[in-house]
Amino acid sequence: MTAQIIDGAALATDKISQLKQIVTSLQSRGITPGLATVQVGDDPASRIYVRNKVRACTAAGVNSIHHDLPGSSSEGQVLQLLNQLNNAPSVHGIIVQLPVPAHLDARRLSQAIAVAKDVDGFNWQNLGALVEGAPGILPCTPRAVMVMLENAKIAVEGRHAVVVGRSNIVGKPVALLLVGGGATVTVCNSRTPDLGAITRQADILVVATGKAGLITGGMVKPGAVVIDVGINRLPTGKIVGDVAFEEVKEIAGWITPVPGGVGPMTVAMLVENTVNAAARVQP
Ligand code: NDP
Repeated sequence: MTAQIIDGAALATDKISQLKQIVTSLQSRGITPGLATVQVGDDPASRIYVRNKVRACTAAGVNSIHHDLPGSSSEGQVLQLLNQLNNAPSVHGIIVQLPVPAHLDARRLSQAIAVAKDVDGFNWQNLGALVEGAPGILPCTPRAVMVMLENAKIAVEGRHAVVVGRSNIVGKPVALLLVGGGATVTVCNSRTPDLGAITRQADILVVATGKAGLITGGMVKPGAVVIDVGINRLPTGKIVGDVAFEEVKEIAGWITPVPGGVGPMTVAMLVENTVNAAARVQP
């Protein structure tokens, strides 16, 4: 059996065109959503991610304002910019592209973004809301995973979901969303003994490790849903996920490709968070 593909690129295109309609109606109320992206230093992968975000904003009619700061910028300089953006009425969402240079404290920068403009959902107040299941801004990649499951009409409630990875930006929040959806959730990390024994129990397997090809066919239960969050550049330049796609697609029931899976949907969720943040502004 060959798995059905969950086409994140196509879903993202649909989502962006829906958002464009909402932007048009906001504009008739005098509001054009604006996203400020801040990059410190010249990490080439970050440059590509920021470019994709700017493109998606443009496609949805969202203004994007990019701030390129030199890698030598002090924390005070970055905080000063964030403060200006927090107070700018034309800016509804702010992101600091990670990673930042080692002399900067990424956590302090994330916490300096106003809660209402924290469209990456990394602020502790938004993360606290996620823990409680209360309204707040959800982090983009975990939300992308849930929307992809919903769109494929894959029920979460009552299923065993296994998340491989426990980072603050993917693994932990995606596990919380799955818990909120009624799944029984197991979270694995690099110390998990016999990873395959756990992943083979998964009805829904979400993998976010940054280890190319970590999940092989023998580690997947037949018919399982496999969501590959990983983005890895091989020495050949090819981009691959954390899942050995060719062999796992012969075992799984559903699978997301890399590229063209969670990545474009993550960007669409960022645009959605920005549009929603603008819609909450009183004219
Ligand atoms: P981190 O490096 O912060 O976390 C990786 C996690 O994977 C850690 O918890 C680590 O465990 C775990 N891990 C590493 N190796 C193994 C292993 N052999 N077995 C089990 N667990 C393992 O990465 P991120 O969460 O930030 O990102 C993960 C991947 O997702 C990356 O490829 C990244 O590029 C991609 N990504 C993709 C996005 C998208 O839009 N599609 C968005 C964000 C990230 P431990 O904690 O024990 O070290």
